Amino acid sequence: MLHLYAGPVFDMAREQFHLIADHLAIPEAERDRLLLPKRAIVVSCPIHMDDGRTRVFPGYRVQHHLTLGPAKGGTRFAPNVDIGEIAALAIWMSWKCALADLPYGGAKGGVTVDPHTLSMRELEGLSRRYMQEMIPFVGPRVDVMAPDMGTNEQVMAWFMDTYSMYQGVTVPEIVTGKPVDTGGTLGRREATGHGVAFLAFRAMEALEIDPVGATAIVQGFGNVGAHAALGLAARGVKIVGVCDHTAAYYDPKGLDARELVSHAQRTGALAGWSTEAAIDPRAVMEQPCDVLAPCAVERVIDADLARVLRCRIIAEGANGPTTPEADKILAERNDGIFVIPDILCNAGGVIVSYFEWVQDLQQYFWSRDEVMDRLERALDRSWATVVARAKRDGVSNRTAAQAIGVERVMKAKQARGLFP
Ligand code: GLU
Repeated sequence: MLHLYAGPVFDMAREQFHLIADHLAIPEAERDRLLLPKRAIVVSCPIHMDDGRTRVFPGYRVQHHLTLGPAKGGTRFAPNVDIGEIAALAIWMSWKCALADLPYGGAKGGVTVDPHTLSMRELEGLSRRYMQEMIPFVGPRVDVMAPDMGTNEQVMAWFMDTYSMYQGVTVPEIVTGKPVDTGGTLGRREATGHGVAFLAFRAMEALEIDPVGATAIVQGFGNVGAHAALGLAARGVKIVGVCDHTAAYYDPKGLDARELVSHAQRTGALAGWSTEAAIDPRAVMEQPCDVLAPCAVERVIDADLARVLRCRIIAEGANGPTTPEADKILAERNDGIFVIPDILCNAGGVIVSYFEWVQDLQQYFWSRDEVMDRLERALDRSWATVVARAKRDGVSNRTAAQAIGVERVMKAKQARGLFP
């Protein structure tokens, strides 16, 4: 069974799980039930291209478990997506939702495509066909999708419309991260990045670092990275470095976060912003700073990078940005780099997704202040339990966070029992 889920990202999720299972003394015989996904759906999505050809894109959805409620997780459109990566991301969603105490299981979906190579019409066709293929397997009480890398509010609107047209009624609660005027919630767009910045401030407080004049480097400048940079800058943190897959900039005097964000939003990426501040993308992450926020893909902080990092806090906006080998090196370095692990640090997105789903189900919508206030309270609760657990057990923040998540899922499975 396991051979279906292969590749470095799945191996990483499995390795992390076994570390936690060892820590929690979970018997071998009970591990597969917790780790292996409940089901995985693989579909072919044929679409008409603008030039008249038909192309078929592979699509995936992995539902890791539904023990605590509907499965929940984003849909990724990226060229290297495969079933192993999607399964790993679904597993991480499970621990993330459980840590945040959301009534959800974990899921993730994706299509192997570079969305930047598609026209708007082709992207719409692909989004609609992907959702249409998934109709038998999703539902507001079964599996609720959301955005992830390469998808956005518009794609969610197409997902929602496609599902709704087949049902014959509007079903906004089938996806989260929708535009506000189609049943989306205020605050969802900035929720993940806002949460990353909010928890970075909590870590700064713990390390007695004054945000005013502190420095940050943000890797990845999509929705998460851009809003993390804005959130940090809003309280006086100097953004000294940024990078994405097209460019990297570094200036110890500080970069203008607002300008960078409007450039990236206007042009779609960081490339072309400045020649003076340009730097090698790998080198930017090695520069000294207080907060390093990896906000793009998995496995960017590997063993080599972990040895040379010069930050005091790692705020993981991405899912799985730090390899287990890098974790080991960070622990051995003994200079106390404070890691805010992904399932805590980027949980703002799915927490506000949960608020959106609740509002959709009730057809009663909240103010932005109410959303942000509840978000911050939820993050504070998770933060407190993780920090207390790490201290109590003498373990890393990552071990503490994952242990809380795994334990909650395990307890629910044990209480419900095995049936039929
Ligand atoms: N894709 C985001 C994540 O990795 C959000 C998932 C959601 O809102 O359901 O957490």
